[in-house]
Amino acid sequence: MTVVLLLCIITSQLTVVLSSAGNFWTYKGSLGADHWHLDYPHCGGIRQSPIDLQTRDVVVDQTYLSPLVFSGYDRVSNLFFRLENNGHTVQVGLNDKTMMISGGGLGATFVAEQFHFHWGAVDERGSEHSVNGRHFPMEMHIVHFNKKYGNFSSSVGKVDGLAVLGFFFEIGRFNEHFQEIIDHFGEIQFKNQHININSIPMIDLMPARLTNYYRYHGSLTTPPCFESVTWTIFNETIEIAEEQLVEFRTTIFENDKSDGGVFMDISDDYRPVQCMFRRRLYASHPSLKYDMASPRENGNDGVSNQPTRLLFSMFLVCIWCILPFFSF
Ligand SMILES: [Zn+2]
Repeated sequence: MTVVLLLCIITSQLTVVLSSAGNFWTYKGSLGADHWHLDYPHCGGIRQSPIDLQTRDVVVDQTYLSPLVFSGYDRVSNLFFRLENNGHTVQVGLNDKTMMISGGGLGATFVAEQFHFHWGAVDERGSEHSVNGRHFPMEMHIVHFNKKYGNFSSSVGKVDGLAVLGFFFEIGRFNEHFQEIIDHFGEIQFKNQHININSIPMIDLMPARLTNYYRYHGSLTTPPCFESVTWTIFNETIEIAEEQLVEFRTTIFENDKSDGGVFMDISDDYRPVQCMFRRRLYASHPSLKYDMASPRENGNDGVSNQPTRLLFSMFLVCIWCILPFFSF
């Protein structure tokens, strides 16, 4: 771990470079995540997201990390949701700012602004965060801004500005609640298309048990990568059917409709995991702290306990950390 930390520190210094002008980014190619820091210096910081959640190292604090208090999540909004393809993801804008979270060590009240998804071209990848190196096929982020700053744009650059709730998906039963969103994908196939849809009680989109979660301080996972996010990643996953995930993979394109030519699907819209540096990962329950080398008594939704897998994931993180060095 010392070697990994040293490599992280060295590459962090190397990536603090002068920025060239630019405001365009992608997940692949010459404008992909390895290059974001050139135009968006914050992306080369030391409190970046996503991260690999290494369960062996978590600090359990049941007192501080009490259950979050959800307000308004069980109600149907009077206003429509704004469903949008922004060229990077499918995003749902929450127009009436009545859904709020507090408690759970957040230290403030945060207002829900939007939620969106990161998904892979195949089941083995897609989530931004991982657990002991294991990725999930999709991850949903519900983005909240700190109520005391009034709105999202005033909050996004503040150290306590944002709180994001992250949820992993697993292939399983057909999910009727998400189908209400998927049914409209044909109307937002192309970049910058949007449509108003009936609101859905947010509680229906989330897992039943929300008391077990991981917590750390990190960043936006897209440029400008501001380090303003208190992350809450829930342990319980959301089930979705394979055919529903296929709709994400095959009907949502990153192209503008007028582009013509070959349309590129948005699949694999996730940023690779970032170095942890000296940050601590916290957990709300003792069952979330376990060593991959030891069998767990209460299981963990199918996470493998092979120590070789942990070593391999550490190796990948290490390789990723030194990649920027070779780009100069
Ligand atoms: Zn996200």
